[in-house]
Amino acid sequence: MADTLFCYHCRMHHPKEEMRSIMTKAGKRYRCKKSIEATKKGREERDAYGREVTAMNRAEAQSRARILASSMGAAAAAATTTGT
Ligand SMILES: [Zn+2]
Repeated sequence: MADTLFCYHCRMHHPKEEMRSIMTKAGKRYRCKKSIEATKKGREERDAYGREVTAMNRAEAQSRARILASSMGAAAAAATTTGT
């Protein structure tokens, strides 16, 4: 029982080795790695959804960027060949 800490996220005790200390406005709190991972995963899923929504706009911007990058690459290649 001595090796457990109160997880403020789950509102229950977990083994100490599963816990991470987190600094909050209220002070130092402990949270289990599982809840941290779950939150991170949830955020990634939301980000993925957001990426899907903006994918069309991004694809257009990226293709424009690629054209710019390739023209710049060609210029750099031309510079190196003329240099020698
Ligand atoms: Zn927990």
